[in-house]
Amino acid sequence: MDLRQIFHSEYELLFMEAAGFAGKGGLEMFFRAALLTLGLNVVCAIHAQSQHVEVVAKDLPEPVPVEGRDIALVFDDGPLSSTTPQVLDLLKKFGMHATFSVVGKNVEAFPDIAKRIAADGHEIVNQTYSHPDPELTSHEDFLAEVDRAQEVIRKITGVSPVYFCPPDGELRDDLVLLVRSKGYLILEPTLDSGDWRSPPAGEVGRVVLEGVTPGAVILFHDSFPKSVAELPGIVEKLSQRGYRSLTLSELRSGAKKGK
Ligand SMILES: [Zn+2]
Repeated sequence: MDLRQIFHSEYELLFMEAAGFAGKGGLEMFFRAALLTLGLNVVCAIHAQSQHVEVVAKDLPEPVPVEGRDIALVFDDGPLSSTTPQVLDLLKKFGMHATFSVVGKNVEAFPDIAKRIAADGHEIVNQTYSHPDPELTSHEDFLAEVDRAQEVIRKITGVSPVYFCPPDGELRDDLVLLVRSKGYLILEPTLDSGDWRSPPAGEVGRVVLEGVTPGAVILFHDSFPKSVAELPGIVEKLSQRGYRSLTLSELRSGAKKGK
């Protein structure tokens, strides 16, 4: 539930109460609801503004230096039966390859979809077994999460991921070193679609289509139905503009030498 929903529910409740108490206290509740409405608008305005600033200003690495218009679309937090197959169908339709940063327990829950990701030529990335909060997880437990996910992915898909993706997008330096010491490369998006913030309709497309440049590694979540619903329009426009998604490893191996 986001901030807006919480405020809306409380606001509706107050008006319902006020309506019920036509007499004593009703007027007071009406004023409280009115005040809350004012608060809601202020909070939403601040919220919307901070969302926009974050999307634009977040400090992400530079795009991979490439020839041509190659990019890498990344899908986080799946696979899920409700949304991932639609993403796979779409990528197939446009002849694009993507990177799926999967959660081990979802791979266990939906093995056929995980197998299809690999069979369709997409790259699979390890994003821990249960998506724990890295801040609340010891080094030992964090490594156990990574190992367990790697084992589940290997058993089910036959693929051993070379990339690791931090569960919350960012990882403390000590954990980066820890994961690298195990031989993993760290997946770092260069453009965040912001779909995880549940922005208004059209915003994900705007961010992606305004922000895309050759070599961009663009982060989406196949776990958000709203974001998946907007994806066909976005992929079609990218394709019309000559962009082609490769897997992250393909994008990196095709990168210009010496940069
Ligand atoms: Zn995640």
